[in-house]
Amino acid sequence: MSIGSSSSETLAEYVASQDTLVREAAEALPHQFSQCTYPLGHLRQAVYLCLTCPEARGICSACSIACHTDHEQIELFPKRNFRCDCSTEAIAHPCSLHTTAEPVNLSNRYGQNFQALFCRCKRPYDAATEKETMIQCLACEDWFHESCCNLRERPNSQNLHPENEDHDPSGDAVSEVSIDLPPALIGPEDYDAFVCGGCVSRIPTLQKYAGTRGCLMVIRDEPTSLWKAFQDIHTDNSDLLEVSLIPEESNNRLTGNKRALSPTAVIDSTIKRPRLSPIAASSIVSCIAPTPNTTAQKVIGDLTSMIDPSLALGTGDVFLTDGFRDRWCRCFSCLSDLELRPYLLEAEETYEPPEDPDSALSLEELGLRALSRLPRERAIDGIHAFNAMRDDLVQYLRPFAQEGKIVDETDVRNFFDRLLEEKRASREHQP
Ligand SMILES: [Zn+2]
Ligand SMILES: [Zn+2]
Ligand SMILES: [Zn+2]
Ligand SMILES: [Zn+2]
Ligand SMILES: [Zn+2]
Ligand SMILES: [Zn+2]
Repeated sequence: MSIGSSSSETLAEYVASQDTLVREAAEALPHQFSQCTYPLGHLRQAVYLCLTCPEARGICSACSIACHTDHEQIELFPKRNFRCDCSTEAIAHPCSLHTTAEPVNLSNRYGQNFQALFCRCKRPYDAATEKETMIQCLACEDWFHESCCNLRERPNSQNLHPENEDHDPSGDAVSEVSIDLPPALIGPEDYDAFVCGGCVSRIPTLQKYAGTRGCLMVIRDEPTSLWKAFQDIHTDNSDLLEVSLIPEESNNRLTGNKRALSPTAVIDSTIKRPRLSPIAASSIVSCIAPTPNTTAQKVIGDLTSMIDPSLALGTGDVFLTDGFRDRWCRCFSCLSDLELRPYLLEAEETYEPPEDPDSALSLEELGLRALSRLPRERAIDGIHAFNAMRDDLVQYLRPFAQEGKIVDETDVRNFFDRLLEEKRASREHQP
């Protein structure tokens, strides 16, 4: 959409067509972006990387809109335990929301995403050219290409309809990728969470469960074979979880610590186990984690020793199916590993900015209509700036309404030109 093509409209017609636009705008930007999250401390929140600012640091969504308005940015999506660095000395560009200069956040983790690199292939992300869906690792929160997880071939341009190449400038094309690709070996509906192989090899519990039921992997039998989704259904322990039995007293007390990762370890299915509920944990003394799957153990073992990754039989990634958090063994050994990574035990909350009480704008808010006609980069100029601008625009349009005059594109354009002029002038006057 752009200002221009449409013919003149009366203000009444303007008002009549408001409804949908108001609703759409409220849905697109329903939140208040007037407060930096810095004072809230470390949170799981959407993080943005500003590419214009030279510092490879993350900023909160409010700052991405209010402080780095004209800057090129990429959204990194949620990062846990993250504190906005816009207002700290880490970023030279001043924060307009939290104006006290704060010390650098030392505990923010700045991985490769902050170099604008993603996945194990370490490629940069470009919304305009990226054709693949990417999957976020639950543990490291990096993003992975489906093809890099061997879920499907890396798509080339022939896979796509021409219109998919014709990206609108909004950068919204991200969600439209993969439309014409063959289905992935494991689709988004097949699993609840993804953990990359690198993380699996650092998390003992996941190593243990990899390739067992509900913990899918993508493997191949030989370097020349096709990739396939894999889970060993014989290692299912869910029936054990269902059975309600009297707690076993003596013999198994020690086995919890001793369960080896060896593929030959065998579960004695005759051992009586207490009923397991997600919360009742401490009472479990014997480990009921499934027998580690031999194939999976080999794949994970190879991750560190394999010389040529193109010969690997898998990446070690796991796809955890629905309810996975309720299925872990919670014996002392398993639980103490899980507790180091609380996100494996409880779904995390991700901070969202407060709802904007003004987002259900009244029909007379003509500014919104004008805003919706601007290119998205300008539209995203921020609800913050917009709120101020909207008042000005309503002011500007009021005489038109009072006199029943026609508002045409030139009027709207004049308003924005004047606004830009004022903005430029005020910048030049700054020291
Ligand atoms: Zn911020
Ligand atoms: Zn910036
Ligand atoms: Zn800021
Ligand atoms: Zn990749
Ligand atoms: Zn990971
Ligand atoms: Zn256990």
